[in-house]
Amino acid sequence: MELHILGSGSKQGNCYLFKSETQDREILILEAGVEFTKIQKALNFDYSKVVGAIVTHEHGDHFKSVPNLLNAGIDVYTGGLTHKKMGTDVFWRAKNLTENRTIEIGSFSIVPFAVKHDVVQPLGFKITHCEMGTALFLTDTCYSPYLFNGINHMLIEANWSEQIIMQKMKAGIKKKFLVDRIVQNHMSLGTCKEFLIQSDLSEVRNIILVHLSDDNSNAIQFQQEVADLTQINTFIADKNLILNLNKTPF
Ligand SMILES: [Zn+2]
Ligand SMILES: [Zn+2]
Repeated sequence: MELHILGSGSKQGNCYLFKSETQDREILILEAGVEFTKIQKALNFDYSKVVGAIVTHEHGDHFKSVPNLLNAGIDVYTGGLTHKKMGTDVFWRAKNLTENRTIEIGSFSIVPFAVKHDVVQPLGFKITHCEMGTALFLTDTCYSPYLFNGINHMLIEANWSEQIIMQKMKAGIKKKFLVDRIVQNHMSLGTCKEFLIQSDLSEVRNIILVHLSDDNSNAIQFQQEVADLTQINTFIADKNLILNLNKTPF
């Protein structure tokens, strides 16, 4: 299984492709927050292998190419309230997800769960496939409402650092209401680390930090701190990065 990162974070937009390497070479799209042309290019303009797209919530950096995907004949799965709010519920290809109800999309098995974000139905995903085991996708959430067992790959938000935000507040660069919005809706490095400490990491092979803030993060420091804490391969999600998520690396 290859993970192709087309973008991560609010500026790049968020979009990931899970590309299976076995016979049917199925592709699952995770988030549609980059330009549609970028997704088309990454797929070589061939949608025949795409089994569907799953989307966490309606913010543009996750959702903006959803109508294009639907028009291209791709099933797009997100919360029913999200489709309704965005007017995409009228598309035949729009599929609703229900929290904690497992859904099979091609040979991927997905469990959506509720997270904490300022939208109608914010979701996180547990994504299982025989090639990679289970990946957790947890982003745009103030904290994780759950702990998970048996995860092999963690794609987790590390949006902002307490230290950087405090410095900016003191220097008068950040307005309080903007800081409040970030703090209430996005996971800090500290919260991310606390979640990892509380989690069973015994089967985790990769930690991929996603959705870093452009202003309030430091990629090198975040990567180092999490790698030091967990002693697990840690990556920063960035556009054009391709990672191997196979259960066995060879
Ligand atoms: Zn976002
Ligand atoms: Zn968001």
